[in-house]
Amino acid sequence: MTRPRILVVGAGFAGVECVRRLERKLSPDEADVTLVTPFAYQLYLPLLPQVASGVLTPQSIAVSLRRSKKYRTRIIPGGAIGVDLKSKVCVIRTITDQIVNEPYDYIVLAPGSITRTFDIPGLTDHAFGMKTLAEAAYIRDHVISQLDLADASQDPDERASRLQFVVVGGGYAGTETAACLQRLTHAAVKRYPRLDPGLIKWHLIDIAPKLMPELGEKLGSSAQEILRRRGIDISLGVSIAKAGPEEVTFTDGRVIPTRTLIWTAGVVASPLIATLGAETVKGRLAVAPEMNLPGNDGVFALGDSAAVPDLAKGDGAMCPPTAQHALRQGRHVADNVIASLRGGPLRPYVHKDLGLVVDLGGTDAVSKPLGIELRGLPAQAVARGYHWSALRTNVAKTRVMTNWLLNAVAGDDFVRTGFQARKPARLKDFEYTDAYLTPEQVRAHVEGTARQE
Ligand SMILES: Cc1cc2nc3c(=O)[nH]c(=O)nc-3n(C[C@H](O)[C@H](O)[C@H](O)COP(=O)(O)OP(=O)(O)OC[C@H]3O[C@@H](n4cnc5c(N)ncnc54)[C@H](O)[C@@H]3O)c2cc1C
Repeated sequence: MTRPRILVVGAGFAGVECVRRLERKLSPDEADVTLVTPFAYQLYLPLLPQVASGVLTPQSIAVSLRRSKKYRTRIIPGGAIGVDLKSKVCVIRTITDQIVNEPYDYIVLAPGSITRTFDIPGLTDHAFGMKTLAEAAYIRDHVISQLDLADASQDPDERASRLQFVVVGGGYAGTETAACLQRLTHAAVKRYPRLDPGLIKWHLIDIAPKLMPELGEKLGSSAQEILRRRGIDISLGVSIAKAGPEEVTFTDGRVIPTRTLIWTAGVVASPLIATLGAETVKGRLAVAPEMNLPGNDGVFALGDSAAVPDLAKGDGAMCPPTAQHALRQGRHVADNVIASLRGGPLRPYVHKDLGLVVDLGGTDAVSKPLGIELRGLPAQAVARGYHWSALRTNVAKTRVMTNWLLNAVAGDDFVRTGFQARKPARLKDFEYTDAYLTPEQVRAHVEGTARQE
């Protein structure tokens, strides 16, 4: 008899937690577990701004999927580009661009999210995202290259535009990115005696009236105060009207000469979800509290790509797209997959939010663990302690701790590697948003390959 096939899509917080639990709880002859992932690592996204600012090396937050001999899951290096629910086949584009069909009995969809964009002229051509390791590494090189080029330039207009930086999005990702990178340029400019530090300007803008509203009134104002003190210009109730290669126009009419637009204004579910042709809530797959897809046996979805009801909050709320939920849902969905395999009952997912930590670089931070408001060093200790303990492997923990200590003792470094210089750097180049099939193409592809066999 063939074993049931479990296919997990995506090796992020949700996917990796799910796979590890399946490996632990299922005996090898109970089911075959396969993981589809374009990369050989799990990315610890909350520390991405620290890679962009060079406090951490990229490798330290890329946690290997092959660290232990106990890991027996088959890994397909590639991305799922469509799922045919009817014939239970996932279409995959491998990293060598081969299109392969992977049949499954159970599928766990955990492809996460991509940067959310709007129909703003020039945005997708000129903005950088902060969702992948490549984007963080690219932005770091790009920011340092702006200092190098401004230093070399004799043209005051060019200097001015290279030394202004715009971050859109006042959530934790954007705020941490602006804070960490501003620290980088502030420290770096001391090594450029020809540059006037007063010309360096960071703008953080958001259409909402507050930064990180989930922090609450007092803590949100503290974060804002810290950033303003450090010279970051915060504009609220403002977005981008137009983006160009050398300037950005704000919706309040201001035109900012800049060559750096970092766009972190929210996320939307992976385009893979749309290929299913199933019901969605704001683009996320509408699943039951047990994280299964009603009416489709053996289909589960979780993390940023699924609209999982937040039973702890009630009132029809959905779990927010956070790592905190994704990794707990990963463990929980593994239990539910095992329960369906063994004919047991599925359990609904319930988790009460534990709070938020925001690392603004150096000793600046604000945190709200379990509703307790913290600022400065205690907040920083909680933020770093939380992230450190959440890293999956001891090697990753050691790398991150060593990087933090080195940075505290030796300060920042300003090496521009140049690896990605002259490469296209649009959102779609990093996030592969145009790689997906339509539901009709998925069906046609699956039916076509079935006829050939
Ligand atoms: C800069 C930043 C800071 C953040 N800070 C925090 C924080 O402090 N606290 C917090 O709780 N949350 C934070 N988040 C949010 C958190 O990282 C996400 O909510 C979390 O990663 C979601 O987990 P996931 O498993 O659903 O998706 P992800 O962790 O994004 O994983 C998705 C995985 O799927 C892979 N994938 C994508 N498409 C496909 C495909 N088609 N086929 C196969 N694989 C695919 C991706 O490569 C990735 O490995 C932050 C996010 C960012 C971007």
